Amino acid sequence: MSSVSLTSVSLAYPGGHLGLADIDLRVGDGEFVALIGPSGSGKTTLLRTVAGFVRPTAGSVRIGDAVVADASRCVEPERRGLGMVFQQHAVWPHWNVGRNVEYPLRLAGVTRAERSRRVSEALELVGLGGFERRNPATLSGGQRQRVAIARAVIARPRVLLLDEALSALDEPLRDRLRLELRLLTRELGLTVLHVTHDRSEALALADRIVVLDGGRIQQQGAPDDVLRHPASAFVAAFIADATVIGGALDSSGFRASGHDLHVPPDLLAAAAGTGSDAASAGLARGTGLAVLPEHVRITEDPGGPAVVVSSLFGRDGDDLVVDWHGLRLRSRGRALRCPAGARVRVEIERAIAYPEADADTEVDGRIAKAEETGAAAGELVRPIVRS
Ligand code: ADP
Ligand code: MG
Repeated sequence: MSSVSLTSVSLAYPGGHLGLADIDLRVGDGEFVALIGPSGSGKTTLLRTVAGFVRPTAGSVRIGDAVVADASRCVEPERRGLGMVFQQHAVWPHWNVGRNVEYPLRLAGVTRAERSRRVSEALELVGLGGFERRNPATLSGGQRQRVAIARAVIARPRVLLLDEALSALDEPLRDRLRLELRLLTRELGLTVLHVTHDRSEALALADRIVVLDGGRIQQQGAPDDVLRHPASAFVAAFIADATVIGGALDSSGFRASGHDLHVPPDLLAAAAGTGSDAASAGLARGTGLAVLPEHVRITEDPGGPAVVVSSLFGRDGDDLVVDWHGLRLRSRGRALRCPAGARVRVEIERAIAYPEADADTEVDGRIAKAEETGAAAGELVRPIVRS
């Protein structure tokens, strides 16, 4: 049994800053969970709490059947049966590869012959067979990270903790190591808690993703589920690049504040937990509308009201940002090939209404501040919502 459970875990840093707030999380035996959130959201704090480098101010942490932290105890990191890989300082430069990898076994007092056998086995596992005597300085970044992974698994931990372990690597290599890491953890049956700020990495690797913000879990679920049904405007913006627009909702649909955008009721989906009919929820104010890039259709039209401000060609289609009288909308996946500067029409095919969402919350600059970007008074604007 190698599940990890956090129950009502809070952590206040000296000075009062709340690093974690009331976290309930269970990582099942053999499950691969990715912890994702913006910088400062508490990802590292959560991982360090599981590892035992920090002690929760409230709540308890369990690994398997054992309580490793609660009000009365805090088991040391070395005694928690964990393997860990971090982004940096992963490998000691003054030791050769073999010495680096065998370190946990030395600590555990394993004999020299046994250490040597297991080091070569672990190096084989990460594709570095025969690298025992190499100086880490002669290795590439990716090879050094493999050494760190070999060291993390050599003592046969039950649980593997990864904190941005692949984030410093260049792309083709990172993609390959991602895949290898997934295969390796499956093969060893490891329970994995993987912290990353990289959304595509989390979505690609994990059985389940957990979205953190402000030290709180905002949503958890299968990657596909979270992508399709973001629980809040924040999650929609962070995970799916949704544009979030402030406005009001009534029986005639959603009206953006300070902008001509109007979305009729039949195109509105209610956010999970708010009932099936968003328009009848009686939410006259404080509504945030999240529009996923996949639901924004762009058509080139010299007389169109919007203009393309950025156009990136991608493997899965184009990624466009259009400016419609100050409202910046993102559109994706249509193979549009609209150049920057082109005038376009915009159709919103579907949107999710979130009652009481704070549409002014900035998420990496991706949320449009509709209130501040109203169209000029009296300007003629074509209807942009398909009816
Ligand atoms: P993430 O890994 O998601 O970027 P962290 O867990 O490192 O976030 O940090 C979460 C919050 O806790 C941040 O606001 C950070 O400034 C704060 N924090 C982290 N470590 C400490 C510390 N040792 N003392 C005080 N505040 C800290
Ligand atoms: Mg961090």
